Amino acid sequence: MATTQVRPGDETKPVALQMAPRRVVKAPRHFADLSAEERADAVAALGQPRFRAKQLATHYFTHFTADPTDWTDIPAAAREAIATDLFPVLLTRRKELKADKGTTVKTLWGLHDGNRVESVLMRYPRRSTLCISSQVGCGMACPFCATGQLGFTRNLSASEMLEQVRLAMRTLALGEIPGGPARLNNLVFMGEGEGLINYRAIMTCIRTLVADAPHGFGMSARNITVSTVGLVPGINKLAAEGLPLTLALSLHAPDDDLRSELVPINTRFSVGEALDAARTYYEATGRRVSIEYALIKDMNDQAWRADLLGKKLNARGRGWVHVNPIPLNPTPGSIWTASERAVEDEFVARLRGHGIPTTVRDTRGSDIDGACGQLAAEEDA
Ligand code: SAH
Repeated sequence: MATTQVRPGDETKPVALQMAPRRVVKAPRHFADLSAEERADAVAALGQPRFRAKQLATHYFTHFTADPTDWTDIPAAAREAIATDLFPVLLTRRKELKADKGTTVKTLWGLHDGNRVESVLMRYPRRSTLCISSQVGCGMACPFCATGQLGFTRNLSASEMLEQVRLAMRTLALGEIPGGPARLNNLVFMGEGEGLINYRAIMTCIRTLVADAPHGFGMSARNITVSTVGLVPGINKLAAEGLPLTLALSLHAPDDDLRSELVPINTRFSVGEALDAARTYYEATGRRVSIEYALIKDMNDQAWRADLLGKKLNARGRGWVHVNPIPLNPTPGSIWTASERAVEDEFVARLRGHGIPTTVRDTRGSDIDGACGQLAAEEDA
């Protein structure tokens, strides 16, 4: 049996990652939480004509601004009341770390109740991707993940997630990332948290991400990825939404013995059950599923495990899945490291030998603790 030194809930957690219990306060209602109809009702309740909702939506979703001084088409006298009631400040930039010549930016956001979350913006030559958080901390306790070691603090509201997106879109539009003004192409729910546990809020967020202008950001559902530890009921619910979202399943091991250690929720939803749900997701949406597999030296990187994974995927059909091995990003206090390059190459070659499309994920941002699994907002940062 594989051995682990950092176990969920055990006292070997690195001291730096132990958080004092925090005051947790639900985020105030924000314009971005509301449907188009509710936005019109809300401005009407402030004594404003309903069409102001559309003006505000254009400012927010098309020009990425929530600053009343930019609302030049709204009477100055009305701006403050609208801003106070509908645009509470939800995120405050506390810290920004850059890597890759400024094209990778990790932002630490302060929330209204003093909690913190992180998001990471990555610009590539022809596209840009934002990785957002859906919860403060995470309750899934995966021992190789920095957030997993923090524990769960609270869910984010839809608008707290949408604000991460708006602020990134604004940064790109203003040309603040080297390479000139740009748009956001891809969004991944791969920051802090297990999105499927905060199901209602992520769906509200997603519906607004994909809504056409002026009511939403007009993103393509295909370019939005929901990543999960494999909560089967959540995957089934997502499959029934009728949206071609991309599903990523964090598998990390093809056998239940090891996976229960790496992804503790596996004791509730086994490898087989998670893969069946992923396959059903593909059937319902036509979207090829991504299998995430962090390659951890001498833990899950053996050639036989690549073969077993290939076999289990092929047993459920062809062409429905691809695998994203990710060299482990070591987290503070963990004894684990990334697999050797030759071992990684062999793992990939085996999967490809089984006919499974396989692409190794880059480790952008690892030097600013901004890579996969490294997001863990420090309380005193
Ligand atoms: N809760 C979701 C999203 C979280 S993180 C999920 O588990 O899918 C996004 C991805 O990063 C997951 O696949 C997660 O397993 C992976 N990850 C976590 N820690 C990592 C680490 N230290 N190195 C590489 N990938 C890691």
